[in-house]
Amino acid sequence: MHTGTEIEFFTVGPLRFTPTEDLPPLPVDEAAVRISRARHISAGDLILAVADPTHAADYFPTPDTARPEPFDPACGCGVCDDIEPADGEHVVLSNGDPWNSCDPWPVDQLALIVPAALRSAAHRTDTQPHPGGRR
Ligand SMILES: [Zn+2]
Repeated sequence: MHTGTEIEFFTVGPLRFTPTEDLPPLPVDEAAVRISRARHISAGDLILAVADPTHAADYFPTPDTARPEPFDPACGCGVCDDIEPADGEHVVLSNGDPWNSCDPWPVDQLALIVPAALRSAAHRTDTQPHPGGRR
């Protein structure tokens, strides 16, 4: 049962939101960034990075919007097939964006996200490398 009062504390490596040669500026306000387990990510959340307690977190060059789906080991996309039952429970967080396959995550994997509800307020148009989006 999820009561909404349950609070989990996480320790993750330092966050690096500094653009580099390979990394465009973070497209959202850092203050809106949250840490979530993969299983709690909702449709519309912006997934920025894997958060790992043991090393610094980078963000993905192209953050993707979550569209969670149940994991299907027989889906045939080429990625889901590679996950063994011994790897534990997974959830597909997006399908076809930014890759032409599913993006399955271990359900307890920590991620840096911007919740869907905060995205419009957090959106920084001044840092968009391609105004209007890619599609
Ligand atoms: Zn798949």
